[in-house]
Amino acid sequence: MEYKTHIVTSMTFAVPMLSVTDELTVINLGAVVLGSLFPDIDHPRSYVGQKAKIVSRVTNKTFGHRGATHSLLALAIIYIMGNVFAQTYLAASLAYVPFWFAWGYLLHLLEDGFSRDGIRFFWPLQKKPWHLGGKFLRYKTSSLSEHIFFGFVVCLLLVEVKMLWQGQLESLFSGEFLSRLQTWLLELQNKLT
Ligand SMILES: [Zn+2]
Repeated sequence: MEYKTHIVTSMTFAVPMLSVTDELTVINLGAVVLGSLFPDIDHPRSYVGQKAKIVSRVTNKTFGHRGATHSLLALAIIYIMGNVFAQTYLAASLAYVPFWFAWGYLLHLLEDGFSRDGIRFFWPLQKKPWHLGGKFLRYKTSSLSEHIFFGFVVCLLLVEVKMLWQGQLESLFSGEFLSRLQTWLLELQNKLT
């Protein structure tokens, strides 16, 4: 999936969630966007890979594309490290930035899971990739199917922005389960460390 499709798709899924938890800020939305690009650091020609060439080449040579960085293990490690960083250096008002970064990261993995090549969520234990959309609901990167999907998510995001403007988005569903998940994850990490 191209970086712009990752960004718009992830924003489409994140904006309602940020809105119902009353955490829709530029910083949290930025964290989602960064998280949705980060896994492709293992591809030197990807958008994020071109920004951090050395890290990208090393990651690519060590793990290959869609290896370690496209796994739930990497997601967990990055989330834990993000929380340690946030608790040490960031203000209390930014406590959920790592959560939203991890949310963007997870969305990237799910989005790649629908691609023709699939991904190995349980790397390094999993050898064969999973295809979340089965045999039929899958796309090839930069193909017509991806471009059509991109147009669809852009429209969806515009609808969300309109709803947000009209004050309808925050009451779309209850954000209580998300707030509980955020607290539970933080408590779990504090217990373990
Ligand atoms: Zn990817």
